[in-house]
Amino acid sequence: MTSVVGVKLVYDFDEGSRDMRDLLGGKGANVAEMTRLGLPVPRGFTITTEACIGYLRAGNRFPDGLPEEIDGHLARLEEQAGKRLGDPEDPLLVSVRSGAKFSMPGMMDTVLNLGLNDRSVEGLAKRTANERFALDSYRRFVQMFGDVVAGVEKARFEAALADLRAARGAASDADLGPDDLRDLLATYKRIYRDGTGEDFPQEPRAQLDAAIRAVFESWENRRAYDYRRLNGIPHDLGTAVNVQQMVFGNTGPRSATGVAFTRNNATGEAGKPFGDFLVNAQGEDVVAGIRNTQSLGELRDVLPDAYDQLVETMALLERTYRDMQDVEFTIEDGRLYMLQTRNGKRSAQAMVRIACDMVDEGLRTEEESLRDLVDPAQVRQLLLPQLDVANAPEAVAEGVNASPGAAVGGVVFEADEAERRGSLGERVILVRDETTPDDLHGMIAAQGILTARGGKTSHAAIVAVGMGKPAVCGVGAISIDDADGAMTIGGRRLAEGDTITIDGTSGKVFVGEAPLLEPDPDNPYLGRILEWADRARRLRVRTNADTPEEAAQARGFGAEGIGLCRTEHMFREGERTEIVQRMILAADDDARREALDRLRPFQERDFEGIFRAMAGLPVTIRLLDPPLHEFLPSLVELSERVAVARATGTPDPEAEALLPRVQQMHEVNPMLGTRGCRLGIEWPDVYRMQAAAIASAACTVKEETGDAPLVEIMIPLVAFAEELRLLRAEVVDACETVLRERGERIEYAVGTMIELPRAALTADEVAAHADFFSFGTNDLTQTTLGFSRDDAEGKFLTRYLQRNVIPANPFETIDRGGVGKLVEVASDLARGVKPGIKLGICGEHGGDPPSVRFCHDAGLDYVSCSPYRVQVARIAAGQAAVDERGG
Ligand code: ADP
Ligand code: MG
Ligand code: MG
Repeated sequence: MTSVVGVKLVYDFDEGSRDMRDLLGGKGANVAEMTRLGLPVPRGFTITTEACIGYLRAGNRFPDGLPEEIDGHLARLEEQAGKRLGDPEDPLLVSVRSGAKFSMPGMMDTVLNLGLNDRSVEGLAKRTANERFALDSYRRFVQMFGDVVAGVEKARFEAALADLRAARGAASDADLGPDDLRDLLATYKRIYRDGTGEDFPQEPRAQLDAAIRAVFESWENRRAYDYRRLNGIPHDLGTAVNVQQMVFGNTGPRSATGVAFTRNNATGEAGKPFGDFLVNAQGEDVVAGIRNTQSLGELRDVLPDAYDQLVETMALLERTYRDMQDVEFTIEDGRLYMLQTRNGKRSAQAMVRIACDMVDEGLRTEEESLRDLVDPAQVRQLLLPQLDVANAPEAVAEGVNASPGAAVGGVVFEADEAERRGSLGERVILVRDETTPDDLHGMIAAQGILTARGGKTSHAAIVAVGMGKPAVCGVGAISIDDADGAMTIGGRRLAEGDTITIDGTSGKVFVGEAPLLEPDPDNPYLGRILEWADRARRLRVRTNADTPEEAAQARGFGAEGIGLCRTEHMFREGERTEIVQRMILAADDDARREALDRLRPFQERDFEGIFRAMAGLPVTIRLLDPPLHEFLPSLVELSERVAVARATGTPDPEAEALLPRVQQMHEVNPMLGTRGCRLGIEWPDVYRMQAAAIASAACTVKEETGDAPLVEIMIPLVAFAEELRLLRAEVVDACETVLRERGERIEYAVGTMIELPRAALTADEVAAHADFFSFGTNDLTQTTLGFSRDDAEGKFLTRYLQRNVIPANPFETIDRGGVGKLVEVASDLARGVKPGIKLGICGEHGGDPPSVRFCHDAGLDYVSCSPYRVQVARIAAGQAAVDERGG
């Protein structure tokens, strides 16, 4: 019942290959591949992910046939090794290693030296004539088995070891002799009995079964579950278990264990493998920081033959995988063994360099490099300052690496204070237990964000990623003392204003100013990758820009026009506010028009600037969108002013006059109130003025440069075709009036934003009046899901993500099933009546790689995103095209 008859649940290493990751996990598939390549890999077998799933589904019972299959493979291993598990004279020892399809911290740790017991340890000692080694291996096994399989606290073993070292005056474990280790073993076994109520298991096959069960069950532990959720890994994959003959790096001075990268993973430089190793050590000693490691180069002096073979092997692995590898190796008495290889993690700098070098080395085509070696999300890091890892001091604390890049600043604990200091030009890091939407202004003002609680889906993380700001979250070592305006972090006390550095790429926090590497805007490797992407992609990439400065910056990043220029800021700056207020409060049409006439020159100048910056490229300008009361003082504030004035008998006629009008304009739910095209229908003069200003600016720039700007006027929040018909007529009339007056001819398009489900569902009708559609996927997400973004993010959305109600933040990655479907329906309907209609998307989804992929699949003409994400979108669009061709 638990397994299908005839399904193979165990594979010998020489039966698998690197294409079998689904079944064998990443580690198992790669160990099999290395075996296939004839590399020196200790023999063993892999129990499949399917066996794991079967075990868990059956309520933690081995699937039918699994024990027998394990017996068979174990017998084969024993035969090959010429040793038997549990043989008291010459025992076969194995490691039990977990390995899922995707590398996953949080899974069970590896158990080494399994098979030892009180008798076979003596056999091993005799056989190797190395008593110290045998005892050292056994005590490691008791500790690992106790910790990993039986759940005895690791710290208890470590404390016993540290006590012994101190008592014997030993500088490191390697200085403990056989007698010391015998004492230690006795202590360890006592700790084991205390912790479990049982004696340490002596039967090797029972040890093995217990370890296999523990690996299976670790798939469901909390850490593993959380990691999968954060990284979008499905929960039903299961983990494989690798059982492998032990080789020993702890037999003496001609033995060692280590890890290495085939090229530099920080810079990407080729031909310089680097890594760390320890002589006379085992397994995780290297990464555990127990002793100071030596760097790979020194291995050449210590064990030259093994070194040469390792370097040669690494080169072969690179040629096989056609990617930088991260390997684990052990040397036993001068002989090299390979224990693991995988594609190595790398910095953004290294990523782009390696992608180019692999092409130059003839290992990949440009398209293959683009598709497989470039993570567009990481590209953005190239534009952010990064921690200079090589020269960084020691971190005081570590948390979740929530948003990449590094930042330096003085600590502040309140959003208002962050804003105050920020406005004085100070660099600050906002430190909070956790953030809420009320902290937004402080987050904007800060260089980076640091929180004591929360992970990658916390409000702080989500907002920081959206803003492209470094953030470290969930640093448990922080405690903020509100009363004192101070914090302690990792035992250090910091007052407001004290400088810290946060590294959102690694999650580390440093006291003081750590060295940063400034981004190189003209990274030549990135330049080449962008060329490949531009050659491949079908989607155009525009930018969202409201000012000439942003437009110019985005153009520098390769933007091919503006997909969304919002005009509301043009109503807010300096002396304009007062004119706008006068316009809104005008008693009659004449007074209103007079105010609008005064506003128009400002708008004209703004538009001229943008047209100049985007000369030769299309510019989509959205007419006024937010409700007008946003330009008036808030009702609460004004009511207070009036109340205070009345109570204190100090008349405030201005406030008194304003109050009834503000009350009248107040809306219960402004997001769904008088905004977008509803505003244009209520107040056509506002849209007419904007259209006239656009037309005038276009004439001016044409007269100046001889080139007419490519103008697209966009009417927001349309639900009914009739709204667009009416407003299009107003806009065209206003434009034509200007063109007649100026005696100029300028082509311009009039279109709409699709951001309401009704507009999407009636897109054929709407399209009759539109030259283009731009999907406003932010509002379309809000109106399709009925989520208010500000209320969702950091509140219930966090819970939704944690509980897997939805797979991703729909404001970051488009909800394909709902919002995406509306986009597809609307595109089909519109193209059905107007085949040539231009279709694009604006809103931050335009810079999110999976959403860009969606836009490509949906056949849109362009995406538009913030300037800093233009390069990300270009690469994502190129990858989508390459992937579709299956190149
Ligand atoms: P992780 O996924 O945590 O890296 P591994 O399964 O790779 O865990 O094991 C960690 C380390 O244990 C390896 O790098 C290696 O040093 C050691 N190890 C595992 N299996 C063996 C073995 N059969 N012989 C010797 N050392 C081993
Ligand atoms: Mg580990
Ligand atoms: Mg490993």
